[in-house]
Amino acid sequence: MRLLHLLPALLAASSALAQRRPAATARAAAPLAPAPDVAMGLARDARIAAALADVSPARIRVTDSTLVAFGTRHTLSDTASDARGIGAARRFLYRELRAYSRDCGGCLRVEYDPHDVQIARFRDRPMARVVNVLAWLPGRDTSRVVVISGHYDSCICSTDAADATSDAPGADDDGSGASAVVELARVMSKRFPKGFDATIVFAVVAAEEQGLLGATGLARRLHDEQKTVVAAFTDDIIGNVMADDGRVDSTSVRTYAVDSVPSRSGELSRYVWGIGALYTPRLEVRPTFRLDRIGRGGDHSPFHRLGDPALRFTERLEDTKRQHLPTDDLTGVNFPYVAGVTRLNLATVASLGSAPPPVDSVVARRDRASGGQKWTVSWKSAPGAARYEVLFRATTSPTWTKVYDAGTVNSYLLDEQLDDGWAAVRSVSADGHRSLTTVASTGAPPRAPAAAPPAPPPAP
Ligand SMILES: [Zn+2]
Repeated sequence: MRLLHLLPALLAASSALAQRRPAATARAAAPLAPAPDVAMGLARDARIAAALADVSPARIRVTDSTLVAFGTRHTLSDTASDARGIGAARRFLYRELRAYSRDCGGCLRVEYDPHDVQIARFRDRPMARVVNVLAWLPGRDTSRVVVISGHYDSCICSTDAADATSDAPGADDDGSGASAVVELARVMSKRFPKGFDATIVFAVVAAEEQGLLGATGLARRLHDEQKTVVAAFTDDIIGNVMADDGRVDSTSVRTYAVDSVPSRSGELSRYVWGIGALYTPRLEVRPTFRLDRIGRGGDHSPFHRLGDPALRFTERLEDTKRQHLPTDDLTGVNFPYVAGVTRLNLATVASLGSAPPPVDSVVARRDRASGGQKWTVSWKSAPGAARYEVLFRATTSPTWTKVYDAGTVNSYLLDEQLDDGWAAVRSVSADGHRSLTTVASTGAPPRAPAAAPPAPPPAP
């Protein structure tokens, strides 16, 4: 971790070098700097780093305690009462987000986002009005959105709709994540009232426990409205630090995102890993390259299914003896830990929000002049990009290990052997924010034989 202290100097040296380099012809050269650790050349922004200090464990605790005090937030619970049930909970969330918007001069657009859906998990398959609460922080580009969600519904989960009346505190699942998202909206609207390049959607979503219904409605709506989802995150179960056997871990967090190559969620996972190393090094990011824990689901999944880069944040050690039970109360939530995850969220969302769009149509072709040792990587320009970087990793490496400055051109002769690795390209803004990486396609997939070939003769 000591290497991290050298990072600003390394980055300054690399950007000074980049400025001296003539932009017209980017040729193969030694990497400007090997990517230090997993930060892989991502740059730290002083404004984002300063905002992390505003994240308050005490405020997150107040929000979570208020949610728990509504008794249950079951999807089919009472909606008329102001003291109990999911209706009271969402009106509280709406009021809270509206108050933040007033404090930032109306910078947040707060709305209820209703979806009428059938709940197939219950025996009588009732219809329900599932209502997300959204706060939009518009960016310069309102067609690109970064979504950060947590679900505010809770349950004592079975197939019996009568559960709607039992107490279901849901302090960790997912009062912790919902409260983190509310805190992000507060801090980011105060610190960045003019928004970022991309638009941020703070989403407190409903009916996760009945099959991700609120998040599914939101994902479909954003796609119907022709938005480009830069990334969709969910904070779900981010507050427990003690396992049933007494083991404690309050210094690492897991991320879940699919990484089949090429996978945009896999690139998102590497990005969060790098941002964590850069901004919140005391909280170790532990990426897992699968959609979710085995047999479990989360609100990033509907976005993943629609092809968006999507990732879940979850505590390192879960206690499943508390989840979906009356024992999921505030004693099982460590608020300084939730605040740590919230800071990681903030650095990630603000960095992605500040970055230009990722590059499109990245193709790598074998370079004949070098006898096939090098590859020419080319891509389409991204609007707002000041320059581009080409990255390389061996197939056995979990993240990018080399970063090459390609300047302002759209093609780069890469002195790496892609038979043995992967290449990707990302766009860089004038102030040093990096987009998600786009993995290079290496041309047409191998042609399948038209018909099954005859069985080969046995080897002599
Ligand atoms: Zn949950």
